[in-house]
Amino acid sequence: MTPFTFARAADAADALRLGAAPGAKYLGGGTNLVDLMRETIERPAALVDVTGLSGIIEEGPDGSLLIGAAAKNTAVSEHAAVRRRYPLLSRAIVAGASAQIRNMATIGGNILQRTRCSYFYDDDGARCNKRSPGQGCDAIDGFNRNHAVLGASDACVATHPSDMCVALAALGAHVHLDGPQGRRSVALTDLHRLPEDHPELDTVLAPGELITAIELPALAFAAQSRYRKVRDRSSYAFALVSVAAALDVSGGVVRDVRLALGGVAHKPWRAWIAEDALKGRPATVENFRAAAAAELAAAAPLRDNAFKIALAQRTIVAVLEDLGGLNGLNGLNGLNGGQP
Ligand SMILES: Cc1cc2nc3c(=O)[nH]c(=O)nc-3n(C[C@H](O)[C@H](O)[C@H](O)COP(=O)(O)OP(=O)(O)OC[C@H]3O[C@@H](n4cnc5c(N)ncnc54)[C@H](O)[C@@H]3O)c2cc1C
Ligand code: SF4
Repeated sequence: MTPFTFARAADAADALRLGAAPGAKYLGGGTNLVDLMRETIERPAALVDVTGLSGIIEEGPDGSLLIGAAAKNTAVSEHAAVRRRYPLLSRAIVAGASAQIRNMATIGGNILQRTRCSYFYDDDGARCNKRSPGQGCDAIDGFNRNHAVLGASDACVATHPSDMCVALAALGAHVHLDGPQGRRSVALTDLHRLPEDHPELDTVLAPGELITAIELPALAFAAQSRYRKVRDRSSYAFALVSVAAALDVSGGVVRDVRLALGGVAHKPWRAWIAEDALKGRPATVENFRAAAAAELAAAAPLRDNAFKIALAQRTIVAVLEDLGGLNGLNGLNGLNGGQP
């Protein structure tokens, strides 16, 4: 491990001051960053511990919910308002990692966790544009079962690993940032980047910018929502495909819908095409299938991951059927990896 200095920030202003040091990185629970430092993939010169920042979870007068960036994943998943109003978020968090890791991991760190592409972690020989820009990408012609089918580029086909972010994308969450240029708020769906020619840039964050909170807008129908994660084993595994969804049906017609996918792209994938295809249409299995097919129409499989396209479509349909009370059999039952 490369030597580094360590300081604990008292508040956001203190974190920004300490984070301005050359080569500084913020440290949440350390469950991703410390692993990357051990592998010398990340080599920060200074660590600024931001776990002392606000982790408060509070409901606003407009029905929104504000969650401080230092809130632990477990605290958020167990919070009464989250479980009652946004159950898909609670389910998504619990579907990730292990209880011990969720007890350590913070909301800010979860959002900024890095890809699990095995070539990215293999500093001893694998070529990786995300780790070493310009080097090439061994995943494109290599073992790419876990990689992206949507939004990838010739430079990188990695996926974003967070379960929580898929739920946040579906919910229309905003991420509050503070930085050298001041404060701003960015939609979660705009925070992570597609790889294009610069896969080394995971997000639109400027150097030194700090996540201070996330904000969930009021969304009454999210009280009936689901997160379904399909994976190779029933726990302690990243998503092959996941679906976060909320559905508002009135008189058999879809009034509103929120849909996002995980495990398929470099960022949490809000399924805007499927949402548009569903709104105002009868809530039928045929329409769910058509919407899922439309969303995946642009998917481009790699050698080992074509199965993700059908899997994503079937998982979308299964979750919508469940939310719409249709509960039909569509070939997915039993393949949901034990997800509650
Ligand atoms: C064995 C294992 C299995 C896992 N399985 C899953 C899984 O199935 N699903 C899943 O979603 N996740 C999984 N994870 C990942 C886990 O969710 C993340 O490691 C965790 O959420 C990261 O949070 P952290 O607070 O520990 O972040 P850290 O490791 O402390 O930081 C991660 C990144 O965020 C930055 N950062 C942290 N806080 C801030 C802030 N406030 N502002 C700006 N930057 C910040 C850091 O600089 C760093 O770049 C797994 C992890 C492990 C080790
Ligand atoms: S897919 Fe992305 S992260 Fe994986 S090896 Fe290629 S460039 Fe690196």
